[in-house]
Amino acid sequence: MYIATVALCACGGCHNSLLAAGEPFVSLLSEHTISFSSYLFDRRTISPSDVVLATGGIRNHEELEIAREIERTSRKVIAVGSCAVYGGLPGARDREEPPAVSEGAGLPEMLENVMPLDSIVGVELYLPGCPPPPGLILESLKSLEGRYEPPHFDGTVCSECPRTVEVKPVKSWSLHPGCGVPEGSCLLNHGLLCLGPVTRGGCLAACPLEGSICIGCRGPSDMVLSSQLHSMYSDMVKYVTLSTASRREKVEKKLSAVLETIYLFTRRDPVIRAKVKERVPGE
Ligand code: SF4
Ligand code: SF4
Ligand code: SF4
Repeated sequence: MYIATVALCACGGCHNSLLAAGEPFVSLLSEHTISFSSYLFDRRTISPSDVVLATGGIRNHEELEIAREIERTSRKVIAVGSCAVYGGLPGARDREEPPAVSEGAGLPEMLENVMPLDSIVGVELYLPGCPPPPGLILESLKSLEGRYEPPHFDGTVCSECPRTVEVKPVKSWSLHPGCGVPEGSCLLNHGLLCLGPVTRGGCLAACPLEGSICIGCRGPSDMVLSSQLHSMYSDMVKYVTLSTASRREKVEKKLSAVLETIYLFTRRDPVIRAKVKERVPGE
């Protein structure tokens, strides 16, 4: 196969995750040819490829052109990372006016909003995460060779987490990343707003395992996407209300104040965003 890796509005973390796969990645390369890589090739034109691993969303006119070139030159595309899948962290820029670019500065003109990759490119596989775990990127590539089934995690981060929730009231809530919580005890029980209950698994609960809250980098779980509202917020309200024996109104108020955090990675996904907007209290 001819494989290309292309960076759009990306920080490089997803490419690093691929390199972090180490020896299995090197052995995969020995069987295939890298036809283009934004970080390795000193040219801008993307050669025709069987598979493009595309990282990053689309934020300016230059990236829009690159996305169109991917669409023209590739057979299959994997959207690698939550920026490519949902628009990701750069979507947070949409709250602000695009910076004025003076003519002649040579900088590409900004688009009004950051767009996920599939706004322009037909995507074969979605691989959310910031970044996705190295093993998942490799498995996705191999699945396109027909050797394996594509990776898919229908469970949540909670389903992979060794911590256990105990149904009991919580005095106060915080978005503190968490520290000093005893092993085995769910972070929610300590008033830390961990998004594990509504976030797609596949990362082996990397953050809660280390004592930090999950901030939802792998986006909504299948359960959220198959619910009537597609809303991480609503499902989180339901889960927290039940698991901490709290009043629903109190939880709704608390979580509606941190919507930016709940949708940190997904606010540019039009479907999720449109459905979520209908449910934001007070809007
Ligand atoms: S998903 Fe995360 S790691 Fe990947 S390009 Fe975006 S910000 Fe960087
Ligand atoms: S809420 Fe967080 S800490 Fe609690 S079980 Fe789920 S992932 Fe683990
Ligand atoms: S625990 Fe949550 S924030 Fe951490 S890597 Fe997994 S999905 Fe991302």
